[in-house]
Amino acid sequence: MTIRQLPPYKEMARKDSCFRPGSTLCVGCMESIAFQNFGRVTDNGTKTIYTMGTFCGEVSTLFWPGVISWGRGETEPAAFEKSFSIIHNVFESAPTVAEGIRDTADILTELGALQKPIQVVSNSGDGGALVIGLRSLLHTIQRKTRITVVVMINEFFANTGFQFASTTTPYSETSTTPPGEFIPGNLSEPMNHIGLVLMAGAGYVAQVSPAFPKEFTEACEKALACPETSVLFVPSPCIAGWKYEEGKTIELAKLASESGLFPTFLKEKGKEGIMKYVAPDSTRSQKLLNFLSEQRRFNHLVRKNKEDLPSVVSGREKELKTIEEWIAKNLKNLNALSKWDQ
Ligand code: SF4
Repeated sequence: MTIRQLPPYKEMARKDSCFRPGSTLCVGCMESIAFQNFGRVTDNGTKTIYTMGTFCGEVSTLFWPGVISWGRGETEPAAFEKSFSIIHNVFESAPTVAEGIRDTADILTELGALQKPIQVVSNSGDGGALVIGLRSLLHTIQRKTRITVVVMINEFFANTGFQFASTTTPYSETSTTPPGEFIPGNLSEPMNHIGLVLMAGAGYVAQVSPAFPKEFTEACEKALACPETSVLFVPSPCIAGWKYEEGKTIELAKLASESGLFPTFLKEKGKEGIMKYVAPDSTRSQKLLNFLSEQRRFNHLVRKNKEDLPSVVSGREKELKTIEEWIAKNLKNLNALSKWDQ
């Protein structure tokens, strides 16, 4: 049989993911898609050790005595290079535990007790990494620990009840920022999470969704190969918290980038960064309206009208303008950061 040559990112489909069936993640959760794809990239001939903080991606996949959705191969792999280990710790500790593993592996290598390389990955949600665990994340980066940090951004503490996080879009409904007569949802401006990790000294930083498979695959490969701390932010539409219809996950992930809310951003230390898949000024507002109108968490701002077109709720024009201004400011900052000589 002849196996057709595919572009490198499509070859990934033939690799063996470390994420297995059986999780209790919601149907349509982007985290599941990201795990599948990132898991394939880790099948690169190097043993993988994975640490997880507490987030949906952990409580729904490591639910002992339920199904454990992780491992590589149908049977336990005999090959060290293909083997996969996973460790869970509390919300904020995934990067710190990964750092301990990296240091131990490096010492064992120096002593000659470990003869093959390992790759170490830390995975958390935005609540765990950018709120509760921001301090430990920044210290791991500042020490230039050779690990890959993956952060799923769904804009909530989803697994504890959809509370506000530092990444929540302005005016979004969350369980702790319910919109009402006087307060139109979340009043806080999101933190510049990309700027923070770049300033802390990350060797590679990417914000990219599996909805853009070529860029996602290449970013995962670069992150795993980085000699310092690499950080991969994965914007992750959350069907339960964002309240959208089934089948819209990829469309919303694309709109998140095109609207400028979560632009695709790729930067290696010492090189100019790249920003992609952001609509030009002339169509960006429409992309934003499309993004907001598909989600009931923004029902108090934008809704579909009788013609099924997005329309701003009367009296909420000011809030829409504020979001657009915040996006424009954020894009300007990211543009400057892309040229920053670290
Ligand atoms: S609540 Fe959201 S993040 Fe959690 S499993 Fe469901 S869709 Fe995924």
